[in-house]
Amino acid sequence: MSFESFRFHPQINAGIRDLGYHTPTPIQEQVIPHALAGRDVIGIAQTGTGKTAAFVLPILQRLMRGPRGRVRAMIVTPTRELAEQIQGVIEALGKHTGIRSVTIYGGVGYQSQIQRLRRGVEIAVVCPGRLLDHLERGTLTLDQIEALTLDEADQMFDMGFLPDVRRILRLTPVERQTMLFSATMPDAVRSLAREALRDPLTVQIGRSAPVATVTHAIYPVAEHLKTSLLIELLERTDAGSVLIFTRTKHRAQRLGDTLARLGYRATSLHGNLSQNRRQAALDGFRSGRYQILTATDIAARGIDVAHISHVINYDMPQTAEAYTHRIGRTGRAARTGDAFTLVTRGDTAMVRAIERLIGEPLKRETVPGFDYNAAAPAHETRPDAVQPRHHESHADAAPRRRHPLRDNDTGARPVHTPRMTGMTRAERSDRREARRRRDYASGE
Ligand code: AMP
Repeated sequence: MSFESFRFHPQINAGIRDLGYHTPTPIQEQVIPHALAGRDVIGIAQTGTGKTAAFVLPILQRLMRGPRGRVRAMIVTPTRELAEQIQGVIEALGKHTGIRSVTIYGGVGYQSQIQRLRRGVEIAVVCPGRLLDHLERGTLTLDQIEALTLDEADQMFDMGFLPDVRRILRLTPVERQTMLFSATMPDAVRSLAREALRDPLTVQIGRSAPVATVTHAIYPVAEHLKTSLLIELLERTDAGSVLIFTRTKHRAQRLGDTLARLGYRATSLHGNLSQNRRQAALDGFRSGRYQILTATDIAARGIDVAHISHVINYDMPQTAEAYTHRIGRTGRAARTGDAFTLVTRGDTAMVRAIERLIGEPLKRETVPGFDYNAAAPAHETRPDAVQPRHHESHADAAPRRRHPLRDNDTGARPVHTPRMTGMTRAERSDRREARRRRDYASGE
């Protein structure tokens, strides 16, 4: 099958050619014909399947006819990064069409969004909170919406956005085409779909399991040796871009800092950073300036960086579905990828849950030569560093130099013993983090 068979407008075909797409992906093949016919669609698919183009292309085709300069299509998405990413796909595929789009999300000023709306746009890519603010201020109305897409619906549910989404649905015309995409279908998303879509076609790609091109391995390790083992893995692996997930924002920040101090081209992405710094981290990771990105689930959700070769779970995800989302970052389109997960004793139940979800046992791996019985090394700042039981000399704690090449390559200074933080402080920080988690919607 080729894109020609969809009979898109020639200006859209030009965009498809520019992006170098030759063959539609399975989700595109199944969704596009029905979406073009105006049918409501539920797409159960994760990032990496080509789902964005599956809804963007039919939207562009619809907008080629009819009036310009009013918001006729809207895509609702959970995070700013995802909004920017979708906007990028719209701009690329719609490059020759003259169709204009705007992103609407919080954390940045209103004025530029309002100006862009005033100049006239046909597509709005929005996060729920800021959209509702615009609606209250009267700077945007939804009464011309013909096509509504809810993207990453399960993520919106996780972030507590479903009440906002329902308010938004009530403000759009009943006569509209609605598409809903979600990597998983928890009950809350199913009932949202029942309310919002009419006689939808359901297309499921990959049965919620991680893409088949990814190999999975777990590395059992003691909590205090996680960073050392991670470094061993990084040193021994011929990796392209590496995305590392941590449980909390603080851990993402600290691990990113530690790796950067060790001479890796590493940065971090999480909700405690300003929008500018988040964008800089993401742009740097996309361009290859940074090889390693440490991130939280929320910040990295749905992020499409084509060349990620490895996803490393420094911390186990909190749900098996979250594992699917994380792993969906690698092995994208036709590429292959590896997923490493560091697991501690407390993670056993989650390992089982993931094995049930992916339908196969996760391969247990050990790194030959790695000292699994070592005391906490004193030369590293771990994200939640534990006070060593006794003070070791630097040489004892680091029996061999871990990455001589890296240091010579980058000229990074030898690592000196940082101030250790105590467990209680780390625990306090994690408790604060747990509280913040409840405020996902505003924080991240
Ligand atoms: P998505 O699942 O929408 O985030 O897309 C995942 C990646 O696949 C993105 O980098 C897209 O540019 C790419 N992609 C989408 N559709 C195609 C296609 N038909 N052929 C090749 N690459 C594609």
